[in-house]
Amino acid sequence: MILTQLYIDGQWQSPIDQGTRAILSPADESVIAQAAEATRADARLAIAAARKAFDGPWRQTTIRDRARLLNKIAELIDRDAEKLARLESLNTGKTLTESRTDMGDIAATFRYFAGLVASESGAVNEAPHHVISRTLREPVGVCGLITPWNYPLLQAAWKIAPALGAGNTVVIKPSNLTPLTTHHFTQLVAELDLPPGVFNLVTGGAEVGAELAESLDVDLVSFTGGAYAGESIMKAATGNFKRIGLELGGKNPNIVFADADLDAAVDYALNAAFFHAGQVCSAGSRLMIEDGIYDAFISRLAERLPRIVIGNGFHGETQMGPVQSAQQHEKILGMVQAGIAEGARLVHGGKRPAGDVFKTGYWLEPTLLADVTADMKIAKEEIFGPVITAERFRSEEEVLRAANDTPYGLAGAVWTRDLDKANRMSRGLRFGTVWVNDYHPYFPEAPWGGYKASGIGRELARIGLDEYTELKHSYINLAPKAMGWFGA
Ligand code: NAD
Repeated sequence: MILTQLYIDGQWQSPIDQGTRAILSPADESVIAQAAEATRADARLAIAAARKAFDGPWRQTTIRDRARLLNKIAELIDRDAEKLARLESLNTGKTLTESRTDMGDIAATFRYFAGLVASESGAVNEAPHHVISRTLREPVGVCGLITPWNYPLLQAAWKIAPALGAGNTVVIKPSNLTPLTTHHFTQLVAELDLPPGVFNLVTGGAEVGAELAESLDVDLVSFTGGAYAGESIMKAATGNFKRIGLELGGKNPNIVFADADLDAAVDYALNAAFFHAGQVCSAGSRLMIEDGIYDAFISRLAERLPRIVIGNGFHGETQMGPVQSAQQHEKILGMVQAGIAEGARLVHGGKRPAGDVFKTGYWLEPTLLADVTADMKIAKEEIFGPVITAERFRSEEEVLRAANDTPYGLAGAVWTRDLDKANRMSRGLRFGTVWVNDYHPYFPEAPWGGYKASGIGRELARIGLDEYTELKHSYINLAPKAMGWFGA
């Protein structure tokens, strides 16, 4: 049985009230760990430690020190990659192949930001010869980082690497459903020679996150999760006008035109929707198919769906694991039923798979709902599970309007062989990422984030580092002379 603790001010410790939470395997509902369940009081200790560390010698570190730190973390991730991947699969149910990919991406994220940090040198501005005018980038201060359960360590890495790299101190709060890899990551950080308080871990629920959002001693809060919590964080942040970064949900269109390479489009439509059982903020669950190929496309999907191998993420042949929790399981089934009630046609799935192994755990069949129309709840709201909703469209203008007609704007894809159309659609879609003839790729070098209700700010890329910095104009007059403007 794994037992986790909090890490505050360089010390492993239990929560003040000794709280624990059972962590369940989504595959069979067995208890896989007892995690420390912090309260607001623990969060306050962590924030105080981070504040003290930020105001202390940590401020004197150089970009070289911090680039070295990030590279060292990347090495430790590589060293423990298999252990971390297994923990991630145990805790989230995702396939080991996916978790291994995550760990590679996490190490790459730390290395990318190490390189960026090392190249950071501010700018010298044009000024009179007796003046030194520089634009400096400085750390923001204490960063509260709040992460979700679908990509526990990957989402954490997107925040931790730039936050530490820019010279901030950190209090991280992972989802209380999936704290295990962030806990192991903290063990790696504890191996390093960091001043106490630079990196703190508090595992717990919404109250702990709310404390980070509300605290006047936190200078920046970066949150990945749902819109409901995002809204409450945004309101709480006004207490001291702290910086906020929000990576929220999505309703992501995957648009297939009749002239597309249909073999590839069918294949990627499945990948877009069923990767990590659809629990991906950018999942392409809203499939929009041009009229002329609609019926054939649905038939081809219908042939593939029963062949998707559902099972334990540790089994080599598994293609799709369970969903994260009983709550998600119920919510997804409720959305499917709502879709059917509104007139969608259930082509496949929509229920727990048959068989004894699927009686416990949060299993769902990959599901296809066809003949969905843009006004249905399932075409508007995030499902966050293994469900494709398929809509028919007749023209480029119609699909562009319908795809954009959502409060969200995270990601989307277009399938066509017509370059002109690809370009028009890429420009027309109001989403943070638009793929053409592909789905899901992202890189540390490319920005990630959403338009509209999908969030505020960007992660990854140079902007993902800039979000953790303040800009200062430093002006030094080397030869001040009296000006005599007033009353001389
Ligand atoms: P969630 O909003 O329930 O929780 C996210 C985190 O916030 C957890 O750590 C939770 O404990 C904490 N939290 C909850 N309420 C809070 C509050 N009031 N104040 C402070 N913290 C609070 O989200 P989730 O269910 O863990 O994750 C799923 C959601 O995350 C989906 O909507 C998904 O689209 C989104 N997501 C977005 C991205 C992205 O990059 N845009 C990436 C992954 C997930």
